[in-house]
Amino acid sequence: MKTFACGDVIPGCSARFTAADEDGIFSQVAGHAAADHGVTTVTPELVAAVRAHIH
Ligand SMILES: [Zn+2]
Repeated sequence: MKTFACGDVIPGCSARFTAADEDGIFSQVAGHAAADHGVTTVTPELVAAVRAHIH
């Protein structure tokens, strides 16, 4: 089981995600980032930052 707290990358955000694997986390985070943060382009830097904080 993997978990990710958006606030680890975007300070002040309280969204948390849980999925069976990293792909599940990324699919949820991509939707959340677009809807709540206006992030429509998932850059390699963003992927690396998210991956570094997946537990
Ligand atoms: Zn967020």
